[in-house]
Amino acid sequence: MVDIKEHRQFTLLNVKDEYNAVIDDAKRLSEELGVQLYARRFYNEKPGSMYCLDPLISCFIEIDGQVGPCCYCGSYRLGNVYETSFESVWFSKEYNKLRKKRYLPACKKCTPFIPFDDPKAHFTAYFKEKDDFKLINDMFK
Ligand code: SF4
Repeated sequence: MVDIKEHRQFTLLNVKDEYNAVIDDAKRLSEELGVQLYARRFYNEKPGSMYCLDPLISCFIEIDGQVGPCCYCGSYRLGNVYETSFESVWFSKEYNKLRKKRYLPACKKCTPFIPFDDPKAHFTAYFKEKDDFKLINDMFK
């Protein structure tokens, strides 16, 4: 995903067919090897086909101890394991609130829930914090 405006030419939007071909090859190979593969694809993905399990099954801890619920949340953090403990962050009120409702600003524009053909799916939450969706749409007119 693109983090800064100047890198927009590097999004997968510019190589949709080539990307799909690679995914098709990977799918064939995964079937041959009996390996489960999940990959998004252009042109035929159903919007809303994904659901966020991140606050239930994973978390991201940075080297300085900061904890985020996923890699799509931008600069939002739920605590710091060095300042308290992993358990105090994982079982915190705020983490539990997120488990009940994906309420973060990033959740409202979260990449996994945006169709892959939509340019907005290819920009990071950091980008979306700085710039709005209109700018992304304008870039791809
Ligand atoms: S930003 Fe919100 S909805 Fe998206 S993966 Fe993270 S917790 Fe889930």
